[in-house]
Amino acid sequence: MSKENLNPLESAQLQVKHACEALGLGADVYELLKEPKRIIEVSIPVKMDDGTLKVFKGYRAVHNDAIGPGKGGIRLHPGVNPDEVKALSVWMTFKCGVMGVPYGGGKGGITVDPLTLSQGELERLSRGYIQGLHKYLGEKIDIPAPDVGSNGQVMAWMVDEYIKLTGENSLGVITGKPVSWGGSQGRNEATGFGVSVIAREAARELGMDMTKITCAIQGFGNVGRFTVKNVQRQGAKIVAIAEWAPTVGTYAIYNEEGLDFYDMEAHFNQHRNLVEYPKAKRISLDEFWALEVDMLIPAALENAITEDVAKVVNTKLICEAANGPITPGADAILKERGIVVTPDILTNAGGVTVSYFEWVQNLYGYYWSEKEVEEKQEVEMVKAFKEIWKLKNEYNVTVREAAYMLSVKKVADVMKLRGWY
Ligand code: NAD
Repeated sequence: MSKENLNPLESAQLQVKHACEALGLGADVYELLKEPKRIIEVSIPVKMDDGTLKVFKGYRAVHNDAIGPGKGGIRLHPGVNPDEVKALSVWMTFKCGVMGVPYGGGKGGITVDPLTLSQGELERLSRGYIQGLHKYLGEKIDIPAPDVGSNGQVMAWMVDEYIKLTGENSLGVITGKPVSWGGSQGRNEATGFGVSVIAREAARELGMDMTKITCAIQGFGNVGRFTVKNVQRQGAKIVAIAEWAPTVGTYAIYNEEGLDFYDMEAHFNQHRNLVEYPKAKRISLDEFWALEVDMLIPAALENAITEDVAKVVNTKLICEAANGPITPGADAILKERGIVVTPDILTNAGGVTVSYFEWVQNLYGYYWSEKEVEEKQEVEMVKAFKEIWKLKNEYNVTVREAAYMLSVKKVADVMKLRGWY
């Protein structure tokens, strides 16, 4: 194994620094952008079902709010730590910038494995997080959403707690709510659907036809599964999935004839994993990464594609559905090998785009159909893709560099207007 930097905050800072340099922005701008404006740590006491008291660590960062209130998910995962939360908040600022949604970047998390909690414990933890942080949240201050390990039910408990504490019936304080209580149609699938839109646009630019390509996807969680569904809907053949299960750790399945989303979903819903999925053979993770496919989509967690993996992948296009799945060292190797990467801040921006639609609908109290949401999302994502692709060609840079250039410039321009530097 080669030694490489896997600190996501340092990766995020490097990406911002490169963009500032490419745009010829002074050192002040990077100084303003390299760290979040604020990060708050709270201790959350939770009465466990067995009568004991456990104290969990929770975090909320707002990286930059020049353009609008902070926006970003709350991650529930044992690996959550301040640097990860900070890095994710940096990426959110630039994701919002890429899409032109009127937000800054925020992110939160709780260091916990939610699968080890009962529903009651999870509810008390979710409410405790809001008790600790509600003064720093609000429809016009900082707006959380779900991320890894959290979901619509968790958001509903959090909004309820916020309303109880503030007395304000502000549904727009958190997005990703269930549709029956202020959520938007299409939000659940939005990130995966958006990944498929960006994948299709990039494939087209590379002269590939979605109905003729093969694809391997890492992750079958919220983003992964709806990516599989929508990439399949566009006609691509999904030949492999890599996943993680508590019993076996990471594993991968493969079928060269193609894997069907609906069949895998039914199996996953019944067994909570695809370990024994009968219509595919198990392959090792090394084999998974080295598969010859037209398109590879990491949709699990950070740092999936390390330098070692980047040397062996056998694909033309990687679409970053997860946040930060490629390390900076790996990114350099992929660039050298001529493998095109669509970056996370563009590829998975469908989630924040439909979160924005949800917030707009909450503020108006007027709700749109699923078709309307999907159409509006697609228009916005294709527009952002085309803008970035044009910039990439103009400056002869990677898609990631172009995305950061576009976004950092938008944030820097507003900070200048507001007299921040
Ligand atoms: P999730 O918890 O629903 O799914 C993650 C999946 O990855 C799980 O099924 C897990 O078993 C699997 N996994 C974990 N480690 C793995 C490994 N080493 N190899 C293979 N699979 C592994 O989370 P999610 O909401 O799907 O988020 C996935 C990624 O997408 C994260 O980086 C998240 O920040 C990002 N993201 C999510 C959204 C959203 O709307 N949910 C939006 C933008 C970005």
